[in-house]
Amino acid sequence: MQLRRSIRFSLTLWYALTLAVIMLVFSSFVYLTIRAGIYKQIDRELNKIAEALASPTMEPFRRAAPSVFDQVLEDFFGTKINGKYVQLLEADGTVAAASKNLNNQRFLLSRSTYRKAVAGESIHETGQVNGLPDMRIVTIPVFNDQKLVRVVQVGAPFGDELETLDKLLVIFGISIPLGILLLSGGGWFLAGQALRPVDLLTRTAQRITAENLSQRLEVLNPDDEIGRLAETFNSTLARLEASFIRTRRFFVDISHELRTPLTIIRGETEVGLKWAKEPDDFKEILQSNLDEVKRMSDIVESLLDLSRAEEGGVHLEMQEIELGEFLQALIHDLNQQQKHLEQESRVLLESVASAWIMGDMRRLRQVFLNLLNNAVSYSPEGSTVRVELVAEAGRARVSVVDRGTGIPAEDIDHIFERFYRVDQSRNRRDGGAGLGLSLVKSLTEAHGGKVYVESNVGLGSTFTVDLPAIPAPAECPFIAS
Ligand code: ADP
Repeated sequence: MQLRRSIRFSLTLWYALTLAVIMLVFSSFVYLTIRAGIYKQIDRELNKIAEALASPTMEPFRRAAPSVFDQVLEDFFGTKINGKYVQLLEADGTVAAASKNLNNQRFLLSRSTYRKAVAGESIHETGQVNGLPDMRIVTIPVFNDQKLVRVVQVGAPFGDELETLDKLLVIFGISIPLGILLLSGGGWFLAGQALRPVDLLTRTAQRITAENLSQRLEVLNPDDEIGRLAETFNSTLARLEASFIRTRRFFVDISHELRTPLTIIRGETEVGLKWAKEPDDFKEILQSNLDEVKRMSDIVESLLDLSRAEEGGVHLEMQEIELGEFLQALIHDLNQQQKHLEQESRVLLESVASAWIMGDMRRLRQVFLNLLNNAVSYSPEGSTVRVELVAEAGRARVSVVDRGTGIPAEDIDHIFERFYRVDQSRNRRDGGAGLGLSLVKSLTEAHGGKVYVESNVGLGSTFTVDLPAIPAPAECPFIAS
């Protein structure tokens, strides 16, 4: 398995990345919120002291000597001042007074802080003083007559709070990568579980070849995506198998169909060569051979027509045709032909409507001749074959009705297949190869129509060709009909 291209890997990677982003955003939010809360609380305490120190009433105390400054602060603020660092600056930035715990160090007063202080702003910042812990410092300016006279700075170390924050960082730093790693492992496992049926499908599909097309994939759950995929694959396989079987049968059928006339030709030629003496004997053999050759070329011709029609490659010379007249002419020819052959079956046109269609005259002749010849062939001598033409709802329906043998129910679904014959021996004698109806179907479909059959054994059959009709063309006043 190529790891980088596998769905399992991509799924897990995306899962881990999404998880990492969510965790980072979440942990940053938690960290920043807690830090803001801590700062807010310290700032509130520092503000109280700094604002008190900055009030005008404190002016005398602000001027207290450095030696008593701490005492003054303690007297004034009590325990609240414990642990706080205080520094008073002159307007020019020099230290006016500072609490002792500062150890003569200075709170840094950056240029920007000073500028802000001059502008009258109170500034809260986090800073460092040499040798002292990190602290939060508030800087408040004191004005007299709109003139900066003092700057009050009060600082408080973070103490435990910052430690808590640091711990939180450590916890996040360990738990996030660990969590991502564990959850990615879980994701990898779950993706593997979810994709296992796909692997199974792949392995089964790999085993299926042209030789064992009857195999099917196992459908574990027909309602999920993979189940549906397997079912779709199975139905594709079923269609493939059917088409393979058809092709195989086609080769068997065609070999069989061609072998019979070839055997006859061969046998008769051999017999003729050995025994025939008189010209009449040879003539008889040649005539018989010619019949077989004609039969073979009919089969080949029909097959060619059929495959062209099935591939959509049949060239139709479409023209407007009035079906009533067309059928009448066809039936007239057939009746004449039967009279000539002294056969008693008669094809009669019974109900004639007028219907116009677009069609290829030659191909439609092939369609109806096949149906009519079948109807005559499979009817007893002297019976009548009826042809009806009905035009309604934009369709033209031609039915060929016979009172012949009929078709058994188990065969009816197959008679349009190539080489299918209900009674093999009988049809062979009659000259049918079982290709006529397949051709009828393909040519009708090439005309945008369909053909169907109703039949009862012993009572007869009705084949109906249903074609799209067109409106009757308007008569042209300049051309005499
Ligand atoms: P064939 O050349 O054998 O007539 P077709 O494709 O035309 O081949 O017909 C297929 C089979 O359908 C025939 O062999 C026959 O058994 C059956 N069949 C077709 N038309 C009729 C019909 N009108 N009455 C009874 N059986 C029919």
